[in-house]
Amino acid sequence: MDTIECRGLRKRYGSTTAVDGLTFTVAPGRVTGFVGPNGAGKSTTMRMILGLDAPDDGAALIGDRPYRSLRDPLRRVGALLDAGALHPGRRARDHLRWLAQSNGLPRHRVDEVLDLVGLAGVAKRRAGGFSLGMRQRLGIAAALLGDPPVLLFDEPVNGLDPEGVRWIRGLLRGFAAEGRTVLVSSHLMAELADTADHLVVIGRGRLIADTSVRDLLGGRRVSLEEAYFELTAAATEYHAR
Ligand code: ADP
Repeated sequence: MDTIECRGLRKRYGSTTAVDGLTFTVAPGRVTGFVGPNGAGKSTTMRMILGLDAPDDGAALIGDRPYRSLRDPLRRVGALLDAGALHPGRRARDHLRWLAQSNGLPRHRVDEVLDLVGLAGVAKRRAGGFSLGMRQRLGIAAALLGDPPVLLFDEPVNGLDPEGVRWIRGLLRGFAAEGRTVLVSSHLMAELADTADHLVVIGRGRLIADTSVRDLLGGRRVSLEEAYFELTAAATEYHAR
């Protein structure tokens, strides 16, 4: 199965507990929003799912296996973590060719994904001259190279113009409709409205809610953002007691 599963994940950095016993499962065929304020532990969790950070306790599994033991990781999981992390001197197409080659992926995928993210026309330009939106697109192209069933996006909307935001929303919804597992983080609930079907809400490294958007709204005439504020306020009160 192409699920992402976190079981009792815990991570400390010195005296900071970044992730404090997180358990949740991300199912295929829907967009799962991963929401919480800045510093809540979203990136740390995603890094542990991707084997970039080792948990102090618990486990993060992709289809029952830790990322690091996947045989063809780019064919199983695609991720956009930090769109700024690109070699500025490398041309977009060369960057993807290098990734494809070093991961045993067919070269024709490079032009396919460049087309898919709308960068075919600038494929020969150096990534250093790209706008943030173009970098996000290139990062997404890299995530899609192996046509993976599992996708993780960390704050993909950050710094995008409204057209770029609409584009990413459509893309994420399309991936879910194809049956892929899509986990997308944001510190702003409003950014995930109209995109997420399901929400994993965290605060201070702990799970606050694991709920469908429909259940969170509960048939009330409130916006998703209002429902989210109620939820996080209730959690803060609970932890303060
Ligand atoms: P989010 O992605 O939700 O904004 P992060 O996972 O980036 O949250 O951070 C969670 C907490 O862990 C924060 O207090 C942050 O300062 C801390 N943190 C994250 N990465 C490191 C690191 N490499 N070294 C020290 N502290 C870190």
